[in-house]
Amino acid sequence: MSLLRLIALAAAAGCSSSSDQLANAPAVDSTVAPVAAVLSTDTTDTSDTSAASETAATAPDSLRVPILVYHNIQPASEAGAVRGADLTMRPEVFAAQMQYLKDHKIPVVSFGALLDALEGKGSVSPGAVVITFDDGRVNQYHNAFPLLKKLGFPATFFPFTHAMDKNPRYFTWAQLQEMQSAGMSVGSHTSLHVRVDKMKDPKQMHAEVTGSRTLLGDKLGAAATELFSYPFGALATAGDSAVRASGYRAARAYGGGTWNSWGNRWRLRSVPMTENMSRFQQIVNPDGVSARKAAAP
Ligand SMILES: [Zn+2]
Repeated sequence: MSLLRLIALAAAAGCSSSSDQLANAPAVDSTVAPVAAVLSTDTTDTSDTSAASETAATAPDSLRVPILVYHNIQPASEAGAVRGADLTMRPEVFAAQMQYLKDHKIPVVSFGALLDALEGKGSVSPGAVVITFDDGRVNQYHNAFPLLKKLGFPATFFPFTHAMDKNPRYFTWAQLQEMQSAGMSVGSHTSLHVRVDKMKDPKQMHAEVTGSRTLLGDKLGAAATELFSYPFGALATAGDSAVRASGYRAARAYGGGTWNSWGNRWRLRSVPMTENMSRFQQIVNPDGVSARKAAAP
């Protein structure tokens, strides 16, 4: 299979991993095999259970700072083969979500600021959120970055590094540098968008986890070597170990909720974003939503 074909499959499959996040998604296209594979095999690692969430939510150092995850920001006409309600969002809906944050004075903080707070080296304003993007698709540069810059919202972008400068559907290194200069952060999503839980070959694991980090450091500087996001949200102890050993500061999983603590920094929980605005409001402004409900006749 050619490399471009691999990248195309990875892009089509996106990062989805959990069946509940895909509950509203259209039926899986039989031509998009990786998604079906993910749905049928993603129970291999069950250590990140609700019991673990309980622990995080009640740990003394835990914080409720939702890490929002976006993928493609593009018109429906361009969504094409991208499947899943959590994999594509229309630009006008993304704009409405960002405007909601602005209008409700919800603090948007950088991923690094959240880590500082979790580590006890800093603090974040109550009710803060973190914005992230997976996969490095160029539609994020065209349809999300200008608005983030205008609103002064920091965000973190996780490209898989092999596609940069090779495939026009993905960022160029120059675009990533421009985004960094404007206050955005960059982290690794491996090199070829692979599941770290399936890798048996230590050399391949090293190439994906450490190799992508080295390349990000070479192209974008040390600031781009701190964060990792698991493709497909696929978690495994071996993957955690490889990420930790590579020198990253923390890693983001896909899904799991809104609470995190320093103790789960190698599997930080997050919230996949969809176009559902009431769900969005519940996630980013739970107090405001409950206040409105209480005030209702
Ligand atoms: Zn991904």
